[in-house]
Amino acid sequence: MGVRPGELWSRFDWANGSCFRCEQTNVPVAEVGEITVAGTVLPLCACQWCVFRLEQLHWTMSERAARQRNAPAPAQPIPLSQWPTKVPLNRPPAHVA
Ligand SMILES: [Zn+2]
Repeated sequence: MGVRPGELWSRFDWANGSCFRCEQTNVPVAEVGEITVAGTVLPLCACQWCVFRLEQLHWTMSERAARQRNAPAPAQPIPLSQWPTKVPLNRPPAHVA
């Protein structure tokens, strides 16, 4: 499981600034990484909700990577000329929120 927002936020040092992700200004932000522009390294700062969202994405992708490492190799793709196909889906149907 991921961490609760308060627990996550307590790991960062917060100061007023602008969020690189949602572009809010004058909100508490924390440094979450850096970006190099024309040879100059600049800090990337994100607001609390974007830090939480980035942590969620990181966790989701880590889980997905772990699942893929354990999954059998994917089947060979069927040439487009043979579609539509009656072959059953070899994965759960896509979930559309
Ligand atoms: Zn933000």
